[in-house]
Amino acid sequence: MNSSPATSIPDFRTDLYINGAFVPAENDERFTTTNPATGQQLAEVASGTATDIDRAVISGRTAFESGSWSRAAPAHRKTVLARLADLVETNADELALTDALDGGKLLSETSTIDVPGAAAFLRWYAEAADKLYGEVAPTADDSFAYVTAEPLGVVGAVIPWNYPLEMAIWKLGPALTTGNSVVLKPASETPLSVLRLGELATEAGLPDGVLNVVPGGGRTAGKALGLHSDVDVIAFTGSTEVGKRFLAYSSESNMKQIWLEAGGKSANVVFDDVEDLDAAADMAAQGIFFQSGQVCSANSRLVVHENIAEKFTAKVIERAAALRAGDTLDDKTTLPPLISRGARDSIQQMIERFAQDPKSGEQWIGEECIQDADPEGAFMAPVIFKGAAPEAEVCQQEIFGPVLTITTFSTEDEAVQIANSTRYALAASVWTDDLRRAHRMSRKLRAGTVSVNTVDALDVTVPFGGSKESGFGNDLSLHALEKFTTLKTTWIADL
Ligand code: NAP
Ligand code: MG
Repeated sequence: MNSSPATSIPDFRTDLYINGAFVPAENDERFTTTNPATGQQLAEVASGTATDIDRAVISGRTAFESGSWSRAAPAHRKTVLARLADLVETNADELALTDALDGGKLLSETSTIDVPGAAAFLRWYAEAADKLYGEVAPTADDSFAYVTAEPLGVVGAVIPWNYPLEMAIWKLGPALTTGNSVVLKPASETPLSVLRLGELATEAGLPDGVLNVVPGGGRTAGKALGLHSDVDVIAFTGSTEVGKRFLAYSSESNMKQIWLEAGGKSANVVFDDVEDLDAAADMAAQGIFFQSGQVCSANSRLVVHENIAEKFTAKVIERAAALRAGDTLDDKTTLPPLISRGARDSIQQMIERFAQDPKSGEQWIGEECIQDADPEGAFMAPVIFKGAAPEAEVCQQEIFGPVLTITTFSTEDEAVQIANSTRYALAASVWTDDLRRAHRMSRKLRAGTVSVNTVDALDVTVPFGGSKESGFGNDLSLHALEKFTTLKTTWIADL
């Protein structure tokens, strides 16, 4: 590590953040968070229990009932949240380094994508705060009815480790803008940046108790939040399996609302009318190998027209072979580690199983990509299964690693059928130079986002989310506000 200010180890916050202050866990237990790129321990973090979750929910509810935030003028909420966005920017180096170290992410990406994105997205929601209007209903002349969107109360936000700060902001932006209190449980692999965010929120002027951050185990703190009878809504991003647990928690407790951003197995369909196949190959490789494939909307299934399959596969392999694992703080590194050696080992076991299945096709492994990487890190070579059958397990199961399948098709209908053939429906990409085909494909593809001539198009101005077992309830855009509000009708009779 060099000694520039941007890479000196931050002074991590490691206690629970409840009611505007750092406090230890009730039983004083701690867990270790490590840097997946080196295997080194970074910090011992307080491990929240059900009692700590209860403390945080009480603090959120008390703040909500006080009205200090929930009934504050929207223009005030705008000012405070915009100040928080400013503070994220002022502390950008520290936050980018924290997520790079804690999540094994590339500093070149946390500093250019995660942290600036988090600040910009938060500011976008802040700016919306005083631009949202209610409705007047078209009633008969003797009555008057208006409809207002009111904050729900206490939001439980449960997030994954792949974009710690960004995932937090995706939930906090709309939840706080609309006046709710939040109890946020970060992933155990990456609690550090979000703990700091809690403190920055207080510095920005958020009243105590409005944002509480409680790290802790999924099966303890996460479950306690899901089952808590005074939590009004859960906003979850993570795996489909854990998402289903939250539906059960809700039905076993108070019927709280549940919004789920879960897994994916996104198809990237490349037609033979594409002139610039190099651009398509660049993005096909990026679509799966960016962040070593640990992206819910990763384009993990490449579906290529048979006329160009051989040529295009060679181009994608060329790009995969050029990836380099190494020091995650070095700009030249392009292939980060997986989130843990445990995750890497279980994915590798999966890959060995898939390799035994004749339907998986022919396997390519880019061993040279990881030859210089720290052996203590959780690095994994990119893998490509060429000629995989769409129904093969390797094409059906979310892997969450640098693993691509390539399947060929001959007709547009077949491409649609293959792309839609998984239990997920999160994202899809289409490459074509034919405008009408692009629209036709978008109509037929089951996906929350269809990216045309790019991969993984995403912006705060457009919804992000899926259907089927990818979940429901979109993040981002003004639609996300609807998840954190309830509509109230006020009817004035006998005018
Ligand atoms: P995960 O295992 O589902 O964990 C997500 C969160 O849930 C973590 O905070 C985790 O806590 C918590 N959790 C785990 N088990 C729980 C339980 N039994 N009850 C309550 N909470 C529990 O997912 P992950 O491994 O962190 O992330 C990878 C998955 O997230 C992939 O499937 C990916 O597709 C999905 N993802 C989806 C999106 C999207 O927007 N659609 C975005 C990013 C990731 P611990 O960390 O303490 O276990
Ligand atoms: Mg970590």
